Amino acid sequence: MNDIGLIGLGVMGSNLALNIADHGYKISVYNYTSDLVEKFTQEHPHENACAFTDIKEFVKSLKSPRKIMIMVTAGAAVDSCIEALNPLLDTGDIIMDMGNSNYEDTRKRCSYLKEIGIEFAGVGVSGGAKGARLGPAIMPGCTKEVYTEIGKILEDISAKAYDGHPCCAHMGTDGAGHYVKMVHNGIEYADMQLISETYLLLKYLGDYDNQKIADIFHEYNYGKLKSYLIEIAADVLAQKDPFGNGYLIDHITDSAGQKGTGKWTAISAINQGVDLSLIDAACNARFTSSHLKERLERSFREDKIPVGKTHVIKDLPKTLEKSLYLCKIAAYAQGFVHYHDASKTYGWELDLGKIAKIFRSGCIIQAKFLDTISKAYEENPNLYNLMDAPYFREEIKECMPYAREVLAAAVASAIPVPALSAAVAYIDAMNSSCVGANMIQGLRDYFGAHTFLYAGQDKPMHHEWKKMF
Ligand code: NDP
Repeated sequence: MNDIGLIGLGVMGSNLALNIADHGYKISVYNYTSDLVEKFTQEHPHENACAFTDIKEFVKSLKSPRKIMIMVTAGAAVDSCIEALNPLLDTGDIIMDMGNSNYEDTRKRCSYLKEIGIEFAGVGVSGGAKGARLGPAIMPGCTKEVYTEIGKILEDISAKAYDGHPCCAHMGTDGAGHYVKMVHNGIEYADMQLISETYLLLKYLGDYDNQKIADIFHEYNYGKLKSYLIEIAADVLAQKDPFGNGYLIDHITDSAGQKGTGKWTAISAINQGVDLSLIDAACNARFTSSHLKERLERSFREDKIPVGKTHVIKDLPKTLEKSLYLCKIAAYAQGFVHYHDASKTYGWELDLGKIAKIFRSGCIIQAKFLDTISKAYEENPNLYNLMDAPYFREEIKECMPYAREVLAAAVASAIPVPALSAAVAYIDAMNSSCVGANMIQGLRDYFGAHTFLYAGQDKPMHHEWKKMF
């Protein structure tokens, strides 16, 4: 009998299956179309992996309680796998959804399956194909009892941080794992947007060529910004065009796609009443980028919007490094506040320090910076906003003048930097005693009698601003 089963032999599923097999676990794999089963058997024969084209035989091959991973396209495909498995499973068997499912769907699937005696875990996995093969960051959401059954194998196959710590930990019940993964992806959007803005600024404010910008990103990777995304940004910039036309970056169409997890994160934050302005900015920037034809047409028009005087920034690479670091602090501060608030809403008891710890390796946002975040939560488990950790407070004080200088230069030079702009505005607003909301309340009360709080009073009041009728 085999230790574990996996359904879905696409990019992620086949790599994850081989990772599991490499760790000495006997695995059964199955795909609803037989082509991928054949491909897997031919391309990746493994002594610990056994492939099935019949789901009944696949289920029969597993030790009890059965542990079955589903790694298929999120949405209806997950439900169809669950429905195919249900009649074949026994009470106490465990289904793990390893894909990028929406956490609300995971919550519904958990309660539906609980009623029929099947355990369900919503497991976030990050790291792409390479991570799945060599060790991803894993975010399981399930009961503690289910985690005692699946935790060891998940921790074994996960990435390990530099201190040997597995990048997998129990996040909380039902949708907690998929929720943590979703916000991780949202933060990934913000990180990438900030990198792309830095690239634009180096290109147009600094007038640097691709190789020079690649070298600057490479240098950044020796400092506080050290991270997987900065490392691969240098690689992307240094890549020569395979058709012999200079650098590849100059031939990539300037229009970004998305699969939706960033948008889900932004929507969940709006529903929770949390300011995720950097992730919003990153999502909006991708939407705007996709209006390529429209943008191009305007850029060639004769009645162009004038550009102001361009600023000259002394030591641009260093100034941008500090500015980018400040923005990163703002993005993660927002993301972790969102974790905190959602945890309260859903009763997940998310451990924010633990989340930062498992992001240190394996996942796309892995970074040196996450070590600092996890330490900040270890020092003060009640920390709400990262901006209040003494270390980050000092960093913000030091980096803010650089960010303001870059923002002013970008605005004057007509370089769109929505995430940088959101970061500066967020930090300013969160450190200000007056953000103009008194004016909003006055207007709301004027036209809609929505009332306002008069300073020092407990009860809301309405003012008769002007005889209306
Ligand atoms: P692929 O498109 O490579 O594979 C999708 C898998 O789902 C295939 O095995 C496919 O089978 C199967 N599938 C599709 N429809 C159905 C269905 N109706 N019933 C049963 N199986 C079905 O996708 P990935 O491997 O890249 O992604 C899998 C999951 O992992 C997704 O949720 C994705 O968001 C998530 N993920 C992906 C990452 C990545 O970097 N690619 C990173 C982290 C998570 P067939 O081809 O035979 O139709």
